[in-house]
Amino acid sequence: MLDADFFRRWMTATTALVDREAERLTALDSPIGDADHGSNLQRGFTAVAAALEKDAPDTPGAVLILAGRQLISTVGGASGPLYGTLLRRTGKALGDSAEVSAEQLAEALRAGVDAVRTLGGAAPGDKTMVDALVPAVDALGDSFAAAGTAAAEGAEATTPLQARKGRASYLGERSIGHQDPGATSSALLFEALRETAGE
Ligand code: ADP
Ligand code: MG
Ligand code: MG
Repeated sequence: MLDADFFRRWMTATTALVDREAERLTALDSPIGDADHGSNLQRGFTAVAAALEKDAPDTPGAVLILAGRQLISTVGGASGPLYGTLLRRTGKALGDSAEVSAEQLAEALRAGVDAVRTLGGAAPGDKTMVDALVPAVDALGDSFAAAGTAAAEGAEATTPLQARKGRASYLGERSIGHQDPGATSSALLFEALRETAGE
């Protein structure tokens, strides 16, 4: 079973990966965006880590709701409300149990990803974070490791796609040939989950 501490460690591990990969995320956002994705998420997850240290919510749901709220209030770009919605909706779906199973987390994340799709209007294949999130959640029934791999593969598979949502879509065909920054950061979220689970 996964408790609040597991979820805090997941968010802390995500913050560390975002810090480590921030330059790469911003570099990916340079040819098909406005070169701020790494700094956007760094600001957001730094605020998440600080808030979790200060408040230490005592349920998995409360950890994710607090994290989501921080992302929404500190990240100006498109990714802030989208990731904020992902974590908040997932947290709400977990309810107020002190511990949740991996199956419950998978189900809650499914609700979170559905909320991202509703908010952003992106479907799989539109070259967005959805292209990493959907396969990750699909694979979560198998293992955290499988979800991490599926997210990374989903992110890589955005390269040949033409963007149909977000800033990159303004480029039309010129968005082809570049990996999507948001799909890449979504893969970090699932890599952090794998690490936290010790897989
Ligand atoms: P901004 O584009 O406002 O500068 P970021 O650079 O932080 O925001 O985030 C860009 C990422 O957000 C994209 O790479 C993409 O994955 C994701 N994104 C943008 N618009 C959408 C959308 N409508 N639905 C899902 N994801 C989106
Ligand atoms: Mg950007
Ligand atoms: Mg921006």
